[in-house]
Amino acid sequence: MGFTGVPGHEFVGSVTDGPDEWRGKRVVGEINFGCGRCENCQRDLSRHCPNRSVMGIVNADGAFAEYLSLPVANLHTVPENVSDEEAVFTEPLAAAFEILTQIQLDPGDDVLVLGDGKLGNLCAQVLRLTGAKITALGKHADKLALIRKSSVRTILLNDWQPRLFDVVVEATGSASGLELALSAVRPRGTLILKSTIAGNHEISLATIVINEINVIGSRCGPFADALDALSARRVSVTPLIEQVYSLADGVEALQHAARAGARKILLRP
Ligand SMILES: [Zn+2]
Repeated sequence: MGFTGVPGHEFVGSVTDGPDEWRGKRVVGEINFGCGRCENCQRDLSRHCPNRSVMGIVNADGAFAEYLSLPVANLHTVPENVSDEEAVFTEPLAAAFEILTQIQLDPGDDVLVLGDGKLGNLCAQVLRLTGAKITALGKHADKLALIRKSSVRTILLNDWQPRLFDVVVEATGSASGLELALSAVRPRGTLILKSTIAGNHEISLATIVINEINVIGSRCGPFADALDALSARRVSVTPLIEQVYSLADGVEALQHAARAGARKILLRP
């Protein structure tokens, strides 16, 4: 997004200033700040406000700091039994829950999650809650092992034998995933795109037309669902944490996070 400013949009913090009823509360916050006036905002779709700022991404400073500010309307109280380390996963976990606001999954539905990174892991865990049959496909044996702990079947990309699924979730974070994802959707099935990949794809759309495939873009999601799932221990996120750095070592932390295969790196001010 060509952003300049303080990055970071996954956080937990304590309210130090603001309305009395919020002071001292441990909170997480939704990252899209809508204008509150436009048609989308009026329809409760401020996440799609054309004039929005987005914390750490568009026109608003983010969370790699001792303090940050955001609209009260964006705050959610963190349940007491959810640790700080778990609470920072609320935003990406909510993004995984967004899928369930967009499609109906039934027990027995055959679902493929493409990608074994953080987002793929969270999507697999969330979709499993529906009783659907989830298979995760990825390149990394160690990351797939992590996903398997959540009773999700996994396949290493090298062992992949093409077959068709009712729903395919593309969460690889890479351009190459798209073609494989499309090839694994059954006729009249659904392809969900979770990766926000900058740049252009060259892909034939004929398959989508011929097989009458539903393609759904999916981004930010409901924080309340994510916090409920964390509180009820229905998902497990702390195994995704690789290391915690102090904010003072933030540059080193970002370098670590950029390493191929790195799991979540946290900063503690
Ligand atoms: Zn608006």
